Amino acid sequence: MGFRPAVYRIARSLGLTGLVYNDTKGVTVELQGDEEKISQFVARLQSTNTPPLAKIRSCKIVDIPIIEGEKQFVIEVSDSEGTALSEVTADIAICKDCLSEMTDKNDFRYHYPFINCTNCGPRYSIVKTIPYDRPNITMSAFAMCDRCAAQYNDVTDRRFHAQPVACASCGPKIWLTDKKGNTIKTQTDEAIAETAKLLLGGKIVAIKGVGSFHLAVDALNNKAVKRLRERKHRDHKPFAMMTDTIEKIREYAVISKLAEHIFKSPQSPIVLLPKKQNAAIAPSVAAGVNTFGFMLCYAPLHYLLFAQGIKVLVMTSGNIADEPLICKNEIALERMGGIADAFLMHNRDIYRQVDDSIVHFIADEPVLLRRARGYVPTPIFMEENCRQDIFAAGADLKNTFCFVKQNQLICSEHIGDLEDAEIYHHYIDSIEHLRKLFEVEPKVVAYDLHPAYLSTQYAQTWHGLPAREDTAKMAVPQIKIIQVQHHWAHIASVLAEHNIRGPVIGIACDGTGYGTDGAIWGCECLIASLEKFERFGHLAYYQLAGADKASKEAIRPLLGLLKFTYGKDFALSKFKWLLERVETIADENPKPEIRNPKFILEQLEKRINTVDTSSLGRVFDAVAAMLGLGNYNHFEAQLPMALEAIIEDGVEDSYDFELIRKTDKPLQLDLCKTIKGIIDDIRDELCGGVVSTKFHNTIAIALLAMAKAAREKTRLNTVAISGGVFCNRHLTNRLIKMLKKEGFDVLFNRDVPANDGGISLGQAAIAARAVTRDPSSVARS
Ligand SMILES: [Zn+2]
Ligand SMILES: [Zn+2]
Repeated sequence: MGFRPAVYRIARSLGLTGLVYNDTKGVTVELQGDEEKISQFVARLQSTNTPPLAKIRSCKIVDIPIIEGEKQFVIEVSDSEGTALSEVTADIAICKDCLSEMTDKNDFRYHYPFINCTNCGPRYSIVKTIPYDRPNITMSAFAMCDRCAAQYNDVTDRRFHAQPVACASCGPKIWLTDKKGNTIKTQTDEAIAETAKLLLGGKIVAIKGVGSFHLAVDALNNKAVKRLRERKHRDHKPFAMMTDTIEKIREYAVISKLAEHIFKSPQSPIVLLPKKQNAAIAPSVAAGVNTFGFMLCYAPLHYLLFAQGIKVLVMTSGNIADEPLICKNEIALERMGGIADAFLMHNRDIYRQVDDSIVHFIADEPVLLRRARGYVPTPIFMEENCRQDIFAAGADLKNTFCFVKQNQLICSEHIGDLEDAEIYHHYIDSIEHLRKLFEVEPKVVAYDLHPAYLSTQYAQTWHGLPAREDTAKMAVPQIKIIQVQHHWAHIASVLAEHNIRGPVIGIACDGTGYGTDGAIWGCECLIASLEKFERFGHLAYYQLAGADKASKEAIRPLLGLLKFTYGKDFALSKFKWLLERVETIADENPKPEIRNPKFILEQLEKRINTVDTSSLGRVFDAVAAMLGLGNYNHFEAQLPMALEAIIEDGVEDSYDFELIRKTDKPLQLDLCKTIKGIIDDIRDELCGGVVSTKFHNTIAIALLAMAKAAREKTRLNTVAISGGVFCNRHLTNRLIKMLKKEGFDVLFNRDVPANDGGISLGQAAIAARAVTRDPSSVARS
């Protein structure tokens, strides 16, 4: 992005002749001139002179014959200009230059809400097809005025070939409507001033942004925030907030140097920060967690709004419950008319809906929890080219999917939970759109082992449509399939990010993943590479009753664990005090009658609708419930997050556990003693925060013990950790520290989430390795 103009400027300033062009392999520069000047060129290219968004991955220099009579340096524009991948980049937050122009009264884009340049602005969200050119983006509806066109065509200008370039006289506009769509204000400054007035008055305004609508409300006004929760049917999940300066965020949360750096990055994600005591943020913004999610303004429109005296806004995704994001004006009015009191609209169409990305910190490194705006479609690179294109379907929760093309792993943005019918349709549409956009023609399809996954069922019907019209007549070759075990995919996602093949000791902990033995796995120690894996150890199986309900209703894993722990001695009467406590936690659980412990226990005893599981996520649910923190996961990992939120610093105690070795069987982690210890502590009325911390510490020690046992057997010294449980900061930081202290090299996810959002990358990397190693082994099985 903006790379060729930068090359041009450096070459010209050094008096060098030649040319620069893009092709599928990257950028080629041909130079003629003094050797010393050419050395200077190379040095300057690799220094700060390159545009902020360009990254040189590698640079190869070769001698070529002299071209006689060459007099100048030119940018050569070819027909087969690059690939979509080198052209279509992520949506980028407004840059400093544009921001200062927008606030400069003498600039012709003063107060223009869609100001952008080569270094900033929308990309991925507005691309319809390739090549990335004005007619193929949603800006095609606007003809450039002479002033904009002059900048667009001037190679020395910051807006040279900036496809979305526009100004107030030629580009998109904003306006404000009431909830029925009746226009209130059409003039930019008036619409923004009125929007700010509404927000400061406690109203809810739907604001169209870069990748979707946001629902905005004053984050300091608890009544208003509660009203948004009621209307949006989002009772519990924390809301993200936006403001315009780091200083404002500092009033409410603890910001490290690293966090500050992430806030100011062009990706501009939501960053999770420790809450400050007595922060003035409305309590209902983020109850039950110990962090606030903040982002800085990233669209020019946001800055104009905050200039009107707004301090901090809740800016939550414009959708209802878990449905897809809304990005079309008519649909916004239709669906959100009952939520928003007004709509701040604009007429730059959003072609791809992209959520805000979320970053938190693990072992002092930024780690993505949700990968979307700003990061997608930036690929992850492999060492080798893959001979066949690959499609990896991902998991059903927090779905992303992934394509392999040449040496690139291209992950989609966060799609959502496929169980929602609309999300599922969005998933299928997105696969088709991105497949065409990146000209991928997968002949190999990778998907999860879970037979009931919708992603699995979709992948099984994959018929390999050709990407381009001209290949449509060719026979479609047989599609090869690769089924990938869930936790293996988790570990493979770490290997792919770190560009290694393994083997490593893989520790994968989460809520649910289908195992090769038909059980539900969730606390696994694997000896894994991109080629194969072996199950070295796991949490001893306990029973879960009630299939899908078991991941929501904490009483189910709790009863399963109690029965496992106390065996034949287990009687409801002995634990009546505990179960009653769990059941009577004030919560508007949708179906209280099915939480009848007697009924669930009968299910467990007769093995009706039960599964064996090694899920660690469910153990966290059960412990949270025992401590009275809730009995229902209204959103994924609500109870584990509540358990993490009450951690007490300085508690170093832990509970007992056992590692059980049986010949020819994987090592078993048995938590009976842990559960007994927790129950004793609760009987003794030990503070919940201490119990929670002791429990977290226990899991870290147990996983370390498992890794040490694996090292003893395999002599491997690298541990890769992944899975949703490692979104827990206390556990993960502690485990990493302990592993390092024992001399392990530790790898973890940074570029893709540790939760199921990273599964597609792992599937893709495993499939790519299989194709590269031995294409004939990848067969329909
Ligand atoms: Zn800019
Ligand atoms: Zn213009």
